[in-house]
Amino acid sequence: MEQDRIALVTGANKGIGLEIARQLAQAGLRVILGARDAGRAQAALDDLAADGLEAETLHLDLDEHDSIIAAAAKIDTRHGRLDILVNNAGIFDFADGAPGTAVIDSVRKVMETNFVMTLAVTQAMVPLLKKAPAGRIVNLSSSLGSLAVNGDPTSPYYAARYIGYNASKAALNMLTVQLAEELRDSGIKVNSVSPGFVKTDLTSMGSMTPQEGAVLPVRYALGGDETGTFVEPDGLTPW
Ligand code: NAP
Repeated sequence: MEQDRIALVTGANKGIGLEIARQLAQAGLRVILGARDAGRAQAALDDLAADGLEAETLHLDLDEHDSIIAAAAKIDTRHGRLDILVNNAGIFDFADGAPGTAVIDSVRKVMETNFVMTLAVTQAMVPLLKKAPAGRIVNLSSSLGSLAVNGDPTSPYYAARYIGYNASKAALNMLTVQLAEELRDSGIKVNSVSPGFVKTDLTSMGSMTPQEGAVLPVRYALGGDETGTFVEPDGLTPW
C-alpha cells in the first residue's frame, strides 16, 4: 500500500479525472482534487468519501493564471513536493469543427485550456515535482491529436475533424516530447495518454466508462520507466 506519494489531478471533479483520483486514492496515494468550482469539488470529495476514500481539494482554474500559481504555492506549503501531476482538465466545444468552418473564438478557447494553460499548470508544478524522488507527469491526450490518424482514411477517427480540439492535443503531445527531453536528467517521466473513447459530459457518448478510461492514465501515473511516449489502450499511438 502506498503511503506517501502525493498526486494532483486537474479537472478532478467529474468524468475521467474523478475516476483517476478515485483509483489513485484506492492505491493509497494522497490525492489532491484540482477543481475550479468549490461546490463541484466538495461533491467529488463526498463521492470519494462514500467509497471510504480520503482526498483534499484545491482551487485550480485553468482560466486564471493566478489560481495556478496560488495552487502550486499551497501544495508547497501543505506537502513540500508533488510526486504526480495528471493534466486531465480539458474542454471540447461544439463550435469547433473542420478547418474551413470552425469558429475562431472556439478554437482559441480550446487551445487556451487544453494546451496553453495546461503548459502553465505544468510550469508551476515542475519545481515541486523536482523535489519528489521519481516525479511523473501524465498528459490526457487523445487519438484525435495524432497527426498520422488525422491523415489516415482507414482510421475510425479520420472523420472527427475538430481543428481546435485535435490541434490542442497535438500541441499537448509536443509538450510531452519537449518536456520529457528537458527533464530527462531529473528522473521525471512525462507521457501522453489517450484514455480511449469514454462516455462523459465532454463526449456525451463513448464505448468506455470513466472508470475504464482512468485505468491507463493511472498506470502511467503510478510507474513505468517510459518517457516521451504517446499511448492508448491498444498500445503506442502514432504521433
Ligand atoms: P469532462 O467530464 O467534461 O471533465 C472535464 C474536467 O475538466 C471537468 O472537471 C472540468 O471542470 C475540467 N475543466 C475544464 N475546463 C477547466 C478549467 N478552465 N479549469 C479547471 N478545470 C477545467 O471530460 P472528460 O471526458 O472526463 O475529459 C478529461 C480529459 O480527457 C480531457 O482532457 C479530455 O480532452 C481527455 N479525453 C477524453 C476522452 C473521452 O473520450 N472522454 C478521449 C480522449 C481524451 P468543470 O466541471 O468545472 O467544467
